[in-house]
Amino acid sequence: MTPGVNLHILAAEFTQLSRSAFFEPAFQEFSEKTAESIAHVLEYSASYPDEIVRQFQHHVWNVLQFVSGSRSNDAPHEAQYVLRKVLKEWIYEDALVSSASLNNFEFFVSLTDLWEFVGRALDRYDSGGYAPLVVRIGSPAAYKHRPVFCVPLFHELGHFVDHNYKISETSVLMNLAPAPPGITDEQWQNLNVRHRMEHFADLFAACYCGQATNLSLCAFAPANGDSHTHPSTQRRLAVVDDFLNNRSNVIVDVLQSALVARKQPALSVRYSEPTLNCFDDVLTYKIKDEAELYGIFLASWKYLHAQLTDRSAPWITPDADASTIEKTVNDLTEKSLRNYEIVERWKNAVNN
Ligand SMILES: [Zn+2]
Repeated sequence: MTPGVNLHILAAEFTQLSRSAFFEPAFQEFSEKTAESIAHVLEYSASYPDEIVRQFQHHVWNVLQFVSGSRSNDAPHEAQYVLRKVLKEWIYEDALVSSASLNNFEFFVSLTDLWEFVGRALDRYDSGGYAPLVVRIGSPAAYKHRPVFCVPLFHELGHFVDHNYKISETSVLMNLAPAPPGITDEQWQNLNVRHRMEHFADLFAACYCGQATNLSLCAFAPANGDSHTHPSTQRRLAVVDDFLNNRSNVIVDVLQSALVARKQPALSVRYSEPTLNCFDDVLTYKIKDEAELYGIFLASWKYLHAQLTDRSAPWITPDADASTIEKTVNDLTEKSLRNYEIVERWKNAVNN
């Protein structure tokens, strides 16, 4: 299978995607432009080194799963909507949040960038200034309608913001203890960058989801030890706990200093936690503002776990099992988020 044959297949895929239904019309444009860039590479493939064509093909394959996963029917729409709001607080240009639906139990962010590559490597192509910032997030397909379980996506978005502004790298350049014996300076630096990336992503998530960040980490990786890429769960939990309780913490301090150096806002609590008594009556919650839009993730997480334990809500019948309880709480949360979005769209339509 040559890259050329693959590119024909990919061109057809993206042309088809450009005719699909997306919640975000920007994905249609993205699909069209991508199909256009593929057509260009096919036409000029003789003028580009084979390696560039091959790399381009890999970039397009990679982005395919995310654009395809962002179609109206496949995307975890409400979670994406909230993540876009969060992103706007940090990245002052319109960024697309795309999602791959996975058939495994994993959350990740993909940091490779097709349009950055196009701008850098395809010197014969005029994109007309098109270079969108795209956040590619992968989450389990089974969680599409389960926003309460999408808390790890805030952590993944934190990785994207960190990558964009090089916060962890900056913090290591600004502040790093000497390497201990038996490890080179470079290895020591890399290890610290990796670990601080995880701490930054945790703290970023905690700004929006508070303690739910730690609760979800405990659900996924309760007892992981230190590794080359990740600090131990115990250390990660402690950093977030210190941050949320306003206790001084060296990691929090060095990351805050790096944010100042990169002219970014400080990490701070940006949510307020709603009281979800209305869930007892199977009624959605009327979210008041963006702080509550973030805070409902924590409130719903707590509500769900309280109901799984003490089953005090009147709607929990004796034969209701954990999956009924989980589905009901996720459903009420999803609808509460959706109502907020609908009202916002309506207000925007009236004002414009
Ligand atoms: Zn991470």
